[in-house]
Amino acid sequence: MASIASHIQSILQKTHPRDTEFHQAVTEIIDDIADLYEENPDYARWNVLERLIEPDRVLRFRVCWEDDDGHVQVNRGWRVQHNHMLGAYKGGLRFDPSVSESVLKFLAFEQCFKNALTGLPMGGGKGGSDFNPKGRSEREVMRFCQAFMQELYRHIGPDMDVPAGDINVGPREIGFLYGHYVKLTNRWEGVLTGKSPNFGGSCGRVEATGYGVVYFLENMLNAHDRELEGTSVMITGSGNVALHAAEKAIQEGAKVLTLSDSGGTIEFKDGMTGDDMDYLKRLKQEEGKPLAESSSGKFHQGQKPWQVTKAAVLLPCAIQNEVDGDAVDTMLKNELVAVCEGANMPLTAEAQEKLIASNSLYGPGKAANAGGVAVSSLERSQNAIMQSWTSEEVDRQLKDIMAAIHDRCIEHVSKNKAGVYPYSRGANLYGFRRLADAMVAFGLH
Ligand code: GLU
Repeated sequence: MASIASHIQSILQKTHPRDTEFHQAVTEIIDDIADLYEENPDYARWNVLERLIEPDRVLRFRVCWEDDDGHVQVNRGWRVQHNHMLGAYKGGLRFDPSVSESVLKFLAFEQCFKNALTGLPMGGGKGGSDFNPKGRSEREVMRFCQAFMQELYRHIGPDMDVPAGDINVGPREIGFLYGHYVKLTNRWEGVLTGKSPNFGGSCGRVEATGYGVVYFLENMLNAHDRELEGTSVMITGSGNVALHAAEKAIQEGAKVLTLSDSGGTIEFKDGMTGDDMDYLKRLKQEEGKPLAESSSGKFHQGQKPWQVTKAAVLLPCAIQNEVDGDAVDTMLKNELVAVCEGANMPLTAEAQEKLIASNSLYGPGKAANAGGVAVSSLERSQNAIMQSWTSEEVDRQLKDIMAAIHDRCIEHVSKNKAGVYPYSRGANLYGFRRLADAMVAFGLH
């Protein structure tokens, strides 16, 4: 019989022929789990892998809304409910022109592994739309969110599918979406996370993904006798994850040299200060302006961070496939020690291979950026018991969860000859075991 990896490849080619990002995400996992799969007869008997790569369902719907000029606009909306063996479907909503069914399928698939790694009871899903909120007025964004929820509400529920935010879906959009859900159903319940703490959200949810990335990085560095304090860090992106990763890294004594956006990179030669941070948060999050308009730091038009500086650590916190093989070559020549992913799949397959082969420390997104969904789970716990915890309490739990995720990544692997833990393989093995064991226990569905 052909190896499980080539068998799954041929199925993917037949059943999801155009979904390149989805293929990339699945391929990355199969190579790591192939031996485990072949050693466990139950997995083959229940055909676990072929079932796991097929989403439970992909909901696709039309979203019609009226712009400020009175024109009717039509977008596509999706919710991919990938797997709910470990708990209700859980994962964010992304509004961006780059959103396609392939992108959402890869994100939902990865989310299943990420959620499994948190150790919490959550299945995996993802959704969103090709709607571009950039340049749209607040009223247009509100009307879009309402039209989106008009369709989505019938497919979600607090014990069934619990969406949250993702790229371009922050507290404002969650407010509009949740407000419409409550209006449509007459029910106030924990059906979305990332709500404002004013109406059932958790303290610390906004910061959670970025802070969690830095907590994971610290665990990873410490496990290799290194410290974050005094270490130079390049960050890509300047959205919620990037800004909070930068904030926490600065608090922990790291020297943060860059942030970036689609226009270029902003460089802080001596490291960003707390004041730079406050200024950039205002610029990006309140005023919605590009980094090119920043009056602090030095802006490099059209450049990526590794083209303008060098650092020991890269935290890619922007979007998928941003870092290619050449970028990794450049950084490896320039003192790179560790990469820890705030975004989902920010490295191309080639970049990932090169990085792993170089024995650099590599914290994959499904582990390193799981802090966001973990605090979403804490938000659901608070909703369920009608309580709200303090920021300190949430942060304490987030730290513990990130340390536990780190330890799960190394539970099934040992250090290689160069003394480095293969985190990516470890994360895939741990996540797959949890999912596959639940599938075997559930019998055939
Ligand atoms: N979108 C975030 C992620 O990629 C958060 C998902 C959630 O909180 O459900 O994990």
